[in-house]
Amino acid sequence: MRKYTLVGVPGSGKSTHGARLTHDFDLVRISVGDIFRWHVRHHTKIGARVRDGMAAGRLVGDTLVEAVMRDRLEQHDWNHGFVIDGFPRNRRQAEFFLETYDIDAVIYLEISDSQVRERVLARRRCSRCGTDYSLIESRPRQEGTCDSCAGRLVARDDDTSEALTTRIQDYRRNIGPVLELLRRKAPVFVIDASGDPDTVQAEIRTRLGLASPPAPGEGSTGRADS
Ligand code: ADP
Ligand code: ZN
Repeated sequence: MRKYTLVGVPGSGKSTHGARLTHDFDLVRISVGDIFRWHVRHHTKIGARVRDGMAAGRLVGDTLVEAVMRDRLEQHDWNHGFVIDGFPRNRRQAEFFLETYDIDAVIYLEISDSQVRERVLARRRCSRCGTDYSLIESRPRQEGTCDSCAGRLVARDDDTSEALTTRIQDYRRNIGPVLELLRRKAPVFVIDASGDPDTVQAEIRTRLGLASPPAPGEGSTGRADS
């Protein structure tokens, strides 16, 4: 079983690297931000409670985050393990997490504030198919339009300069205590997240002792197993 949690400032690449790990090693991805965005999109009660705060870049209240995480982890829908993205984010969440669950490793993506600002303010997502773009690294061929489905490209509601400042400040204030607590339970691997995604992903795999996945066509032989 492989149980990891990814921590890092907004824009450090948690979802990119979480998605690559889950895809290649057959893990389940658990993104707290995605869960709340799902609620907002589907106009649920929870969505109504968190929508405005999220758009302003504020953290959702701990009680609600804990309830959502408890529900999610109770589903036990993984065979090989999971990658959590965006949790725990403060001391109280870390205490709750450590009392209730075990993890094997913490992946800590480290990057400067100026670089994340640049990245986050340049990111866009296709409103139809969900493909991610960066106006710096992967520009669409036609401005504002998805290359694969011609859907409209939009920025996340909380990817404004102001909301980002709040998110970065919250993150910097909380990360010390969170790491201190997590370190008691699992190794924390500090990864330089400033490079290109392939380099960062390779470094994560080396540090976690994960072999590279099979080349396309090799089928599932050699796939990571618990
Ligand atoms: P980012 O890491 O870029 O801020 P996420 O998708 O992880 O993006 O989170 C988006 C928003 O969801 C956060 O700004 C916050 O409002 C809410 N959220 C996500 N995870 C947590 C958490 N562990 N505790 C409180 N709020 C959270
Ligand atoms: Zn698209």
